[in-house]
Amino acid sequence: MNLTLRKFLVVLLIAAVLVLGNIVVIAHWLDEVGVSPLAERISDDFLTPTAVTIISALLILLVGPSRHAGSTMSCPVCRSRVRRADKYCPECGSRI
Ligand SMILES: [Zn+2]
Repeated sequence: MNLTLRKFLVVLLIAAVLVLGNIVVIAHWLDEVGVSPLAERISDDFLTPTAVTIISALLILLVGPSRHAGSTMSCPVCRSRVRRADKYCPECGSRI
């Protein structure tokens, strides 16, 4: 964790405290602007429980593909990358 990241975290923490301290004022302001009825209408129209369930299931099932899926694997002994077609690890010589 470098110094820039620490400074960013401190600023983020201060902003979070200020927002949480004024949450009632912010909620009142959002209601005056008209964000609250718009969000309620969007929630009623598009975020039905079925849609939320499907989106959650897709987010859980969605995994990032590995960089070389299928062509390489890691050696069980030294964890170096080896081709799947090789029988022996080129680093440590163990049988794969
Ligand atoms: Zn190895």
